[in-house]
Amino acid sequence: LKNHVVDRFPKEDDMHVTSEATIKLKLPHGHTGVLVKNLYLSCDPVQRLLMHNKQLILQYPNYTPASPLSGYGVSKVLESGHPELKEGDLVWGFTRWEEYSLIDRPESLIKIRHTDVPLSYYAGILGMAGLSAYVGFYEICNPKKGEKVFISAASGAVGQLVGQFAKLLGCYVVGSAGSKEKVDLLKEKLGFDEAFNYKEEGDELEATLKRYFPQGIDIYFDNVGGKTLDAVLVNMRDHGRIAACGMISQYNVGVEESEGVQNLMQVVLKRITLKGFNVNDYIHLYEDYLDYVLPYIRQGKIVYMQDIAQGHLDAAPSLLIGLFSGRNLGKQLLLWFSD
Ligand code: NDP
Repeated sequence: LKNHVVDRFPKEDDMHVTSEATIKLKLPHGHTGVLVKNLYLSCDPVQRLLMHNKQLILQYPNYTPASPLSGYGVSKVLESGHPELKEGDLVWGFTRWEEYSLIDRPESLIKIRHTDVPLSYYAGILGMAGLSAYVGFYEICNPKKGEKVFISAASGAVGQLVGQFAKLLGCYVVGSAGSKEKVDLLKEKLGFDEAFNYKEEGDELEATLKRYFPQGIDIYFDNVGGKTLDAVLVNMRDHGRIAACGMISQYNVGVEESEGVQNLMQVVLKRITLKGFNVNDYIHLYEDYLDYVLPYIRQGKIVYMQDIAQGHLDAAPSLLIGLFSGRNLGKQLLLWFSD
């Protein structure tokens, strides 16, 4: 990171790639960490929040200028000072945007045990995005068969899974996304009952939702916040549940420009449960999640759209920024080319 980014969209120029930083490909004697080669890097909206000059999220340290960005990834262990990891192991977890990283706290990495599925999945469906979808839907929303579910940023890393989980449970599922291509994929590839392009609805979002949910929404999985959340509140049913997973529409604006939510009183009037969550508080559910999702993946009952760019780290800043204009189609990853 070159500089903190506050109250505006990040630019490629806020980051720079250097080939000058070097790392010794040998663990210092007695070191209890691991040395890894990063294979896949995941681009996540949360990284934008870490560019801020204030610490906005307790669970992740902010980036400091002149330091490498950190983020989720899939890596291979080259050398280990940790008893539970050895050379050649594949792991996923929090690494840095570097070709090689020395991870001081290897207990934060999760060893990859199921290798009959694509390795890239551990930076998406079998990583933080997948667990977020599972926790947000099952733990936060307490869903029941037949309920009516709405998901924003529905074609993204998290949203596409929430929709498929809800369909498997027997819910009616509608998603919103930012292009025709994404909307078509939601309906044709991911099995959503309905989907619409929110960019075409403008200020009509309230009426649009009324059309798709004449009896109201039981569950809203919120990835975007702002005016979408406001329109949803009016369309919620009594005792509805809202999982506040993220509010990406508000990450790049200051307090003055942020879209205030006007309809919050609906929470009281309709006895709605609105709950925010951070996936890091639910890592203990990871094995349960694998037990749930792996059979569906193997049977082809859940599919995962990935947007995998191949290249070197130079490509990463533009991929990260692309999340905020919806350039990604599914989970955005960088697959590191080996020279
Ligand atoms: P995505 O893969 O969905 O990528 C982000 C998408 O958000 C874009 O593709 C774009 O899709 C949409 N978007 C961008 N800007 C806007 C905007 N102004 N209004 C509406 N939509 C917008 O990201 P993830 O699935 O990884 O993350 C989804 C959300 O979940 C984010 O808010 C993220 O911060 C949050 N999150 C929270 C976690 C937690 O622990 N609480 C964990 C993981 C993610 P489109 O073309 O449809 O506009």
